[in-house]
Amino acid sequence: MKNVEKSRQKYTESQNYLAGGVASSLRSAMKPTPLFASAGSGPRIWDVDGNAYIDYLLGYGPLILGHAHEATLVSVFEAMKRGITYGLQHEGEIELARQLTEVLPCADKVALSGSGTEAVMLALRLARAYTGKRKIVRFHGHYHGWSDTIFTAFPSSDMRQSSSGGAGDAQEQHIVPGTSGQSELALEDIILLPWNDSAVLDAALREHGHDIAAVISEPVMCNSGCVLPKPGYLEQMRELTEELGIVMILDEVITGFRLGLSGAHGKFGLKPDLVTIGKALGGGIAVSAVAGSQAIMALIENGTVSHLGTLNGNGVATSAALATIAELSKNEGAVYAKMENNAAQLVEGIRSLLVKHSIPGILNHIGPVFHMMFTLETQVEDFASFMKRDAAKYAEFAGKMLEEGVLVRSNGLWYLSAVHEEREIEETLAAVDRALANL
Ligand code: PLP
Repeated sequence: MKNVEKSRQKYTESQNYLAGGVASSLRSAMKPTPLFASAGSGPRIWDVDGNAYIDYLLGYGPLILGHAHEATLVSVFEAMKRGITYGLQHEGEIELARQLTEVLPCADKVALSGSGTEAVMLALRLARAYTGKRKIVRFHGHYHGWSDTIFTAFPSSDMRQSSSGGAGDAQEQHIVPGTSGQSELALEDIILLPWNDSAVLDAALREHGHDIAAVISEPVMCNSGCVLPKPGYLEQMRELTEELGIVMILDEVITGFRLGLSGAHGKFGLKPDLVTIGKALGGGIAVSAVAGSQAIMALIENGTVSHLGTLNGNGVATSAALATIAELSKNEGAVYAKMENNAAQLVEGIRSLLVKHSIPGILNHIGPVFHMMFTLETQVEDFASFMKRDAAKYAEFAGKMLEEGVLVRSNGLWYLSAVHEEREIEETLAAVDRALANL
C-alpha cells in the first residue's frame, strides 16, 4: 500500500478550518483519502508523501498543456509583473477576444468571466433576454455548473424508465435539485429531457417552444460516459431551435479547446447561437467565456443584459489563455493529432486488457478525453445505459490505479494533455494490466 499518511493528517487538519476539508465538494470523495499535492510537472503530479503519479485528472480538465507549462508560466509571470488586475481595460482582453472570434466559428463577439458556472449563467441570461421567454431545456447526465437555476441531481431510478419511452416521457422527467439549500423554485423553469432522443426533443420543443428561451447541451455528453451525439441529433437541435425561436447553447466547458481550437461545434460543423468555454482555455488559470452571435451579444453592448465580475478579463487570466492558444495553435494539427493518437493508443490498449482479464467494459472516446466503464451493456449511448455501469467497481479500480502510480478520476473520465508522451502511455498500460489483475 502506498503511504499517504501525510495526506491523511493534512485532511484532518484541513477539516478544522476549511469547511469539509476540501475546496470543492467533489474532492472529498477520493479514496483512501483526499490527496494533498506538493507539485506537478508536465504529465506528472506528486503528493505530500512523496508519491508520484501520472496524471489523467489534470485538475479536472484545465491542464491541457500539463502542469507548470513553461510558456504559460512565462506569459502569466510577465503579465503579473505589470500588475495583477486593473479594473480597467487592457490590450490582453482585446487580443484574447479577437483570437476567440477567429477560432470559434459561432463567435461574432465574446464575453469573459471566471468559471464555467459563470459562463453558463450569462448564456442563460442572454437567452432569456433575447427571446423574452423563460424556460430552459437541459438534459439528464449533463452538467452545467452549480448555480441554482441549472444545477440538478443525477437521479438514477427514474432514468431507467425514461430510456424506454418515446416522446410522451418528455414531460415526466423528475427534477431534483443538485443540493440542499437550492430553492426548488429556481428550477421551475427547467425542462429536463433524456439526451440523444430525437423524438423526445422534437415533441418537447414543439409542445413548449413558445415558452422555451434556450436549449443547453454538452455537444458530447462528457460528464456521463463521453457519449457522442447520434448522427443528426445536434443538427436536428439546431434546426428545431432555429424554427421555434429558441437559443441553442452548446456548453463547451469540457470540449472547448480540447477537441480542437474550434471546439466541438467547429469539429461537427455546427453553428449554435452561443457557446460556453472554460477549463482548457486558461490551462489552469481561472477564465471562461461566452461566445456567440452579434444579435445576442448586442444585449450586453446596449446594456440590456448585465455582465459583471470584479476579476473578469484580468491580465493573469488573459495572458494564460493567450499562452494556451499560442501553444495549441503553434502547429494545431500536430498538437491535437498527438493527443488524439495517444488517447487512441491508451483506449485500444485498455480495451485489449479488459479482454485479457475477461472484464466486460466500454471505453467511449473522442479526442483526448475518454470514459472507461465496467458494464455488461454492449453500448453506452445515452444516460440510461451509462447508469447501468458498475460505478463501485470502477471506483475500486481507480484506487488500484492510484496504488500503481496513476491518478484517474473515480468516475471514469480520463483527460490527456499535450505533454503525455509514449512513455506515460506505456507505463499506464502496464499499471492498468496489474490493476485489472487485482480487481
Ligand atoms: N459545464 C460543463 C460541461 C462542465 O463540465 C463544468 C464543470 O465540470 C461546468 C460547466 C462548470 O465549470 P466550472 O467548474 O469551471 O464552474
